[in-house]
Amino acid sequence: MFCPKCHSIMFLKDEMFECRKCGYSQSPERAETFAPRRKKKEAVVIDEKEAPTLPTAKVECPACNHREAFWVLKQTRASDEPETRIYTCKACGNRWREY
Ligand SMILES: [Zn+2]
Ligand SMILES: [Zn+2]
Repeated sequence: MFCPKCHSIMFLKDEMFECRKCGYSQSPERAETFAPRRKKKEAVVIDEKEAPTLPTAKVECPACNHREAFWVLKQTRASDEPETRIYTCKACGNRWREY
């Protein structure tokens, strides 16, 4: 832990990091943000942008036979063709499209 002001080493005092050079102090909670974040253990890997808003459907995953999957609509290039649903299995993260 180094002082953000003067970059000298900080010491733990009364559960606070304190810089002996300039007197700057910082709580260990804030200091933890400098440490690498622990990743949550999740079986499904989905794009973070998509995950919170994705609807789910009762469809069977061809890979693991789980019966629930997220789905998104993908526009095909040809405008006269219908949209395609892309499913993402909730259990194993497998992706497939609806034909
Ligand atoms: Zn300092
Ligand atoms: Zn699956």
